[in-house]
Amino acid sequence: MATAEQRPHAVFFPFPAQGHIKPALQLAKLLHHCHGFQVTFVHTEHNRRRLLRSHGHAALAGIPGFQYAALPDGLPPSEVDASQDMRALLCSMETLIPHFRRLVSDLPPVACVISDIEHILYAAKEMGLPGVTLWTTSACSFMACQQCQPLVDMGIVPFKEPEQLRNGYLDDTVLDWVPGMPKDIRLRDFPSFIRTTDSDDAVLKVLLRSMACHRTTPSAVIFHTFDELEQEVIAAMSTILPPIYAVGPLPLLLSHVPAAAGSAATDKMESNLSRENNTCLEWLEGKRPGSVVYVSFGSITTLTNEQLVELAWGLANSKKEFIWVIRDDQVNTGAGDPAAAVLPSEFLEETKGRSHVTSWCPQEAVLRHDAVGAFLTHCGWNSVLESISAGVPMLCCPSAADQYTNRRYLCSEWRVGLEISANVERDEVRAAVVEIMEGDKGKEMKRMAMEWKEKATVAALPGGPSWVNLEKVVNEVLTVSP
Ligand code: UDP
Repeated sequence: MATAEQRPHAVFFPFPAQGHIKPALQLAKLLHHCHGFQVTFVHTEHNRRRLLRSHGHAALAGIPGFQYAALPDGLPPSEVDASQDMRALLCSMETLIPHFRRLVSDLPPVACVISDIEHILYAAKEMGLPGVTLWTTSACSFMACQQCQPLVDMGIVPFKEPEQLRNGYLDDTVLDWVPGMPKDIRLRDFPSFIRTTDSDDAVLKVLLRSMACHRTTPSAVIFHTFDELEQEVIAAMSTILPPIYAVGPLPLLLSHVPAAAGSAATDKMESNLSRENNTCLEWLEGKRPGSVVYVSFGSITTLTNEQLVELAWGLANSKKEFIWVIRDDQVNTGAGDPAAAVLPSEFLEETKGRSHVTSWCPQEAVLRHDAVGAFLTHCGWNSVLESISAGVPMLCCPSAADQYTNRRYLCSEWRVGLEISANVERDEVRAAVVEIMEGDKGKEMKRMAMEWKEKATVAALPGGPSWVNLEKVVNEVLTVSP
């Protein structure tokens, strides 16, 4: 048996947002339990405080061979228990470098660094350590992001006039030259970072730099996906990137590792920045199979109050039962700090007994519950993979980042999604909910969702393609001395 000194030591540092931390912790657990890695998992101090507030010290106590560390993220300290300003956070990552270098030099010898933060990958390289990108959203959105530099070079991005953001230009502009992507992919299907008229746009600059980094700096790129789901884009990317490995869906892989899935010590190693409320699982008990709509916009997306009210009435008028996650910081007031939602009292009266509103739920368990028939989602990548893994079709309502590309693939390529337009009008929501729950399109989408569930399950079976890819990246990259 390898001693602690002989076990390879991986340092994980995911971008400090919920959708990045969760898959990173899942991969870390797999490397620890299945491949004997020692792990140091790095959070920002802000997120460390959130985890402690939500789950207590057990969440960060670690287990032998698996420890946590925390570094300052460069933003002013905030005691507000809420998502941070993502634009500011994206732009502050450079300040992590000296802290990270100090941390690594104080740790036992490090075999590899796994991150999606460009500055961390550069720092690892400068320190002579193999760095590996763990890309936590879809491979198709990564490919779209890789086209941002060509779009800048062609003079398409930044847009010439604000009108182009509104007048159908996004819908009408076809980009038929992107390797591995459908020939009718359009600007509207690209990540939102290109939707700017400002040639100095800070987020666009970060994106361009980071795409160049992931192309040239890491020793490998791990995508949280599975081969069959994104095979064309994965094949096209293998010609422009360092070696790539599709390893997912990670929750399904983990479900085959008893030490990681069932043990009390590992279960307490939380990646959920918010505290879950489990009452919705009791509420689901006894409901008819496929009768409940699950609604959630992930951990960051905000809605205006008008959108929230339209959505509420769309759900109410569909006459279906539903679970709705409304975070404490869900509403965008337009005045800086987000606020809690105030739902119309008539809506609460009208839907009494058939609605369950909660601020954060155990989403994977909800999606796996028999009673859930559809997921109204913002199309965040973890949500998409969790829904596919559970065979649940989706109503797609993206509002930022990679969500537009995911929506395109869900609706047109994988055929498990139905689009809802961004203004979220109540009649459209009602009609879409009724269609997905009982219409012919809904039945076909359910059939496709069950097919994808089967494929995801096979990919994540021990010996299946995702396990093989995990083994390969361990043997070919993570345990090879530089
Ligand atoms: N999530 C959860 N409970 C909730 C809502 C979301 O556990 O009530 C989890 C969900 O399972 C997913 C993550 O939060 O793993 C959200 O990630 P995603 O990539 O879907 O969206 P993001 O938050 O990054 O926009």
